[in-house]
Amino acid sequence: MSKSCHVDEFVLGWELTNPSSLLLLIERKMKKLQRLIIGLMTGLMLIGCSGKVVRTLAPDTVDEKRINLEASRSYQQVIAESKLSKDKRLVEMVKRVGMRIAKASGEPFDWEIELIESPELNAWCMPGGKMAVYTGILPVLKTEGALAAVIGHEVAHATRRHGMNGYAQAIENQLATAAVAGIAVLAAEFYCESQECKALATIGGAAGAMGLAFFERKFSRDDETDADRIGQIYMAKAGYAPAEAIEVWERMAQATGGDGGPEFMSTHPSNKNRKQRLSQWLSETKPLYEKAPQKYGIGETIF
Ligand SMILES: [Zn+2]
Repeated sequence: MSKSCHVDEFVLGWELTNPSSLLLLIERKMKKLQRLIIGLMTGLMLIGCSGKVVRTLAPDTVDEKRINLEASRSYQQVIAESKLSKDKRLVEMVKRVGMRIAKASGEPFDWEIELIESPELNAWCMPGGKMAVYTGILPVLKTEGALAAVIGHEVAHATRRHGMNGYAQAIENQLATAAVAGIAVLAAEFYCESQECKALATIGGAAGAMGLAFFERKFSRDDETDADRIGQIYMAKAGYAPAEAIEVWERMAQATGGDGGPEFMSTHPSNKNRKQRLSQWLSETKPLYEKAPQKYGIGETIF
């Protein structure tokens, strides 16, 4: 996941009124540009060396089943390369929240969730239901209910099939990635910012392409709003007080200054709009919470 390549209005406004931050912003942009150029040159050079790129897949053969399969393979790789948390209480919490949200979604995916030991404020759900939460986000979220809101949002991207065209395209173009895989470890040193990118660069092929497309994903504002709404429905059905979703954005914004953090902070209806909408949706989601077979309120306190 690239954390530093986006600028929202809030951050830009702040950066421009602060000269030292403006320099930082320019420096970050230059770094990104440098990586992009190296990445492009490496890719072009290798496609040149390999003579021709033979396509073995027609676009219409890249269906959802295939996307989920490649997502699952790249998930195994990322998890294998990650340090998993050994904190029993937190692992248990993340697993129970993940599985409750999964069940509430009604989607028959092959669900999995892991708690990765990392200072990053991150959480995600791949197509087909492979999820991860990073330990860094837990102290910011403060409650199990807030964690349910975040997992609900991420799961909604998967169940609503956001970004599927991009994933299909990435798998279709897998041979270009496979050509890069030859010196992927070297290229990864220059190109990759995230641990996921480095893990995936070494497997290459369709799974690597799928994984990279996923970790570089950018959803539209409409998709973000949709994930907010559906995520709040899932958490309510799973028995978590849906009003807790409103608190999440406040806590995240305070912790990150509006920038960085998990993908839901990076493409953005502004925090204010987001909180307003989540409050309006309570008229729909509160009754779902009332009907939930078991209610947990805001759940356990995380720390
Ligand atoms: Zn999102």
